[in-house]
Amino acid sequence: MRQIDETHDPQLASWVESANRPGCDFPLQNLPFAVFRRAGSREPLRCGVGIGEAILDLTALGPAAPREGAAAEALAACAAPALNALMALGPQAWQALRRGLSRLLRADSPHARALAAALVPQAQAEFALPARIGDYTDFYTSIHHATAVGRLFRPDQPLLPNYKWVPIAYHGRASSIGVSGQRVRRPHGQLMPRGADSPRLAPSERLDYELELGVLIGPGNALGEPIPIERAEEHVFGLCLLNDWSARDVQAWEYQPLGPFLAKNFATTVSPWVVTLEALAPYRAPWRRAEHDPAPLPYLDCAALRAAGAIEIALEVALETALMRERALAPERLAQADFRDSYWSIAQMVAHHTVNGCNLAPGDLLGTGTQSGPAPQQAGSLLELTAGGSRPLTLKSGEQRRFLADGDRVILRAWCERAGFARIGFGEAAGTVWPAA
Ligand code: MN
Repeated sequence: MRQIDETHDPQLASWVESANRPGCDFPLQNLPFAVFRRAGSREPLRCGVGIGEAILDLTALGPAAPREGAAAEALAACAAPALNALMALGPQAWQALRRGLSRLLRADSPHARALAAALVPQAQAEFALPARIGDYTDFYTSIHHATAVGRLFRPDQPLLPNYKWVPIAYHGRASSIGVSGQRVRRPHGQLMPRGADSPRLAPSERLDYELELGVLIGPGNALGEPIPIERAEEHVFGLCLLNDWSARDVQAWEYQPLGPFLAKNFATTVSPWVVTLEALAPYRAPWRRAEHDPAPLPYLDCAALRAAGAIEIALEVALETALMRERALAPERLAQADFRDSYWSIAQMVAHHTVNGCNLAPGDLLGTGTQSGPAPQQAGSLLELTAGGSRPLTLKSGEQRRFLADGDRVILRAWCERAGFARIGFGEAAGTVWPAA
């Protein structure tokens, strides 16, 4: 478990003025990582850290850069066009770099004047995927989502008997993961409407989003060597936002018996920013099971999990239709949820994924699955919000939605707040639906 240290002090202010504004996602206490270059340039992609409305270019620190030790080693890994090399180093290196960067960016830093030249405004940057994602697995950790969706697909047995024992997941597709700003082409697929006697190939009519977090893996494990739950978080670099775009009509027809396939693998959008587990240390919470639920098997249980295995992260999904853009209306929030309501924790995801010896590698991505809360308005997908499309939402623009329309832009956001600590945010993961080819 990462410790709270000097970098989390809520009194710390930065010489980057925009980082000190209330409500800013990237105050000095956050320091999320991204891969970027100046928009429209042919500069090499490289790693940076978000501070206020700027990016600190980690390849441009000059004489202010740490010269030796774990921080220097970590910094050297940041010249790459992806975070994988940094991710491979592990928590000690990440903590050393975080401490070094925090000191450089503090209001009293003697390097402020020199480092101003290493700042790139976020508004002038373009972002790449934060890592080369070798493998992608999507979990199903929200029992509220699993129950609500199960009710639609299997009214007689909403929650399958394995749910409270197994952290359910499927292997996703890494090739179609894109960074925020992704254009998502409405997919074709086999549709089998209720009452029809044969399927047809057509553009999905029930395109949906899923409000999720992504877990980015740090050091991997050797094939055949499971990661014990006590050490699972040492293998996690940080979290991003993740939208698992889903074609519900394709899904309903194809998902049995082997689970999601073409309903899911046409696009996944992640945020460019990775918020580290170090930054998330102040927002931990005990992980609990309801009294009448079974205790997890021993390989999915440990004292550290019980003490602080959950993380309080507020999640939000908003929609901006083409009409809203035309009329300059603000995006409309559709739902809010919180990651603390997840049935399975990050450590349990990692321990379970590797219990059979499966190997994870730096930059692998684990989706948490759609995060829905206990209340109906906390649903992380349209499937749930519209009861399978049967109860359309009426938006403030007067439009109605059962599922997504062409031109719709879906925006995910997340943030952490706790008394006595700074508020930190995740930026956004946005994607726009394009018409079918
Ligand atoms: Mn999903």
